This record gives sequence, structure tokens and C-alpha cells, in this order.
Amino acid sequence: MSAGDRLHDLLHKASGAPKSIGPDELERLLSLERREDLDLLYEAAYAVKLKCCGKGVAVRGLVEAGNLCAKDCLYCGIRKSNSAVERYSLDEDAIAAAAEEAKRLGYASLVIQSGEIESEAHTVFIENVLRRIAPLDLGVTLSLGEQSEEVYARWRAAGAARYLLRIETSNPLLYAAVHPAECSWERRVECLRALRRTGYQVGTGVMCALPGQMARDLARDIVFYGEMDVDMIGMGPYIPHPDTPLAAGAPVMPAESRLELGLKMIAATRLYLHDVNIAAATALQALAHDGRERGVKAGANVLMPNVTETRWRRAYRLYAGKPCLDENASLCRNCLDRRLASIGESLLYGTRGDSRHYAAREARPAADYSSGQVQ
Ligand code: SAM
Repeated sequence: MSAGDRLHDLLHKASGAPKSIGPDELERLLSLERREDLDLLYEAAYAVKLKCCGKGVAVRGLVEAGNLCAKDCLYCGIRKSNSAVERYSLDEDAIAAAAEEAKRLGYASLVIQSGEIESEAHTVFIENVLRRIAPLDLGVTLSLGEQSEEVYARWRAAGAARYLLRIETSNPLLYAAVHPAECSWERRVECLRALRRTGYQVGTGVMCALPGQMARDLARDIVFYGEMDVDMIGMGPYIPHPDTPLAAGAPVMPAESRLELGLKMIAATRLYLHDVNIAAATALQALAHDGRERGVKAGANVLMPNVTETRWRRAYRLYAGKPCLDENASLCRNCLDRRLASIGESLLYGTRGDSRHYAAREARPAADYSSGQVQ
């Protein structure tokens, strides 16, 4: 059998049912290099996206609520030791205004993201924000880092439906190499379990093209998503930020290779998990102007255009080259409409775009949530 025939067979097998290929086969997909092979991979993943998530792209307005952060992740532009950042924290009125703008634009979902703060005052603040925006009837995702199970439960009770907490890498050794000693990979996994127990649609994800990361690690990341039975994936290429220790240390792959790796991860994840929500991250667009559309054509089904007031966007720079710094939310939406139309897709206005994977699991009787994982 020729190599081309073997790839056809592998893609056919993966497309038939979730988790029908193993880590070695995922690694093989992630290692493809030839243009014609990559095109076959993306076509197969896009076909599974159409079959399992339908036509159209779910949309969430993204509010970057603040860049105060207690963590010192070695790659992140808003790490606490970066004194070059102008720190800000949106107040309740500003977040509510961004949520109203999202609603006005026809987005039925919102993501509130910020640096990581663990305090009673912050917990109460987020509760108040959630209660304040509840009348807008948006599907709300939080991405506010590691918290106690009690805090997750309080925010869930106040109206949040989904939570995104990237594991960053499923390899604890690689995790330790890109985080300071006080950051615990095990705690992050435990937080994901707590989120599941608390009833959220749970999202995780990784950065790809981290220094020292191998295709094997990325294949295991995808298996990790499956083992944790997550509902949503948000992942993207690592992009150095000049004011961080990681950028000063290790060399990275060229931008086009990192973009391609990000697309391969989306495609392989779609082929492995079928019905989860997968976002085409802004980091893809930072590497190529059409990065997000290419993400959709590789199997992503969610986009998160920024609805934060433009004056704060520069202060929330996780990496160099963040796009859309000066485009307000209306311009971003018009631009996305045009870009998606160019690939025969469109934003799904007025629908929350909940994870079908979550809905399917909820519909099954007597799920066991005690371990935080559903078998
Ligand atoms: N504090 C929350 C948390 O820890 O989950 C959410 C904010 S955090 C800044 C959001 C994500 O940005 C991280 O999970 C990480 O994957 C991503 N990120 C940070 N620095 C990055 C970089 N240099 N390149 C690409 N992604 C980056």
C-alpha cells in the first residue's frame, strides 16, 4: 500500500467514529508536511466539523476584563513580573457595556477572561458582574484561571455556564519547564475536575510549538482532552512576548510552521473528538491575516472576536503581534463576516453555540460525576 493510500485509510478510520485512532496515529497526522497531505487532513477534519457541528461558526464576544495577574508564567506577556505592562481592571459598568455591545452585535455568548486573581473581593466582583449581565441572556464562559471548587460553584450559581482553563501542556515535565516552581500541573488538572463536578461545560487546551515540545507531546495532549472528556478546546500556537523569560531563552519555529502546527492540532483534535467545540484562536490570526479562517477550514467551529473597548487592548498583550488592536467590535464583526463568507461559512448570530458534546453527555442517564470524569 502506498503512503498516500495509508493516509486515506487513516483519515477514513478517524472520520468514522470518535477516538477510533490512537496516539501513534495522531502523531503521524501531526507530523505531516507535504502540502497535498495537509490538504487531505484539513478536508477530512472540516467534513467531520460539518457532520458533527453543522455549517456555521459559533461566536462569542471576548471581554479582556483585566491584566492583573498573580502568576508568573514564563511565556505570558501579562505575567506579574512584567513591569512594562500598564495594569488595568475593568469595572462592573465597563464589563456590562462590553456585554451589551456583544448583544447588540447579535452575539448570544460572551467570554470574560482576565489574569488570575484569587481573593474574596474578586470572587464577589465576578458574581456581581454575572448577576448584572444575566438579563442579557447570554451564554457566559469564564476564563479566570485556577480557583477553588467553592468559587467555581459560586460563579456557576451566579450565571456562568462554561469555563475555559487551558492545561497548557499535558506533559508535566514540559509544564514545569515553562512555569515557575509554584505553579502546579496537578492543581490545574484538579481544577478541571472541579469544574466538571460543578456542572460547567468544561474547556481546556494547550499551546503548540513550545520550545522543547515534540509531536508526541501534542498527540498525548489530544488523548488527554479525550480522557478528561472535555466539551470545548481553545488552543493555539505559542508566540514569544519580548518581555518574558521564555522569549529570551529558546528559539522557536518560523511563524508559518507554528501556524501550520496550530492548524494540524485543530484538525487532529476534530478527527479524534468529533463533536466538541473547537475555537480558532486569535493567535492564529497573529501569525497570518487569514489564520482564523484557515482554522475553521481545518475543523474549528468557534470564533471569539474582541468586544473590549479598544483603549485597553494594548495592555492585554499575551504575545507579540496581537491583531485588531484598533478595530472596534463592529469593525471586527464586519471583517469576520467578510472573511468567513470568503470560505463559504458564516457566523451563527443569535445562537449560543453550546457544546454538542456536553448536550449529548447530559442527555445520557445516570452519569457519574463523582470523579470529575465521565466514563
Ligand atoms: N488567567 C487565565 C488562565 O490562566 O487560564 C486566563 C488568561 S491566560 C493569559 C489565557 C491563555 O493565554 C493562557 O492559557 C495561555 O495558553 C495563553 N497565552 C499566554 N501567553 C501566550 C503566548 N506567549 N503565546 C500564546 N498563547 C499565550
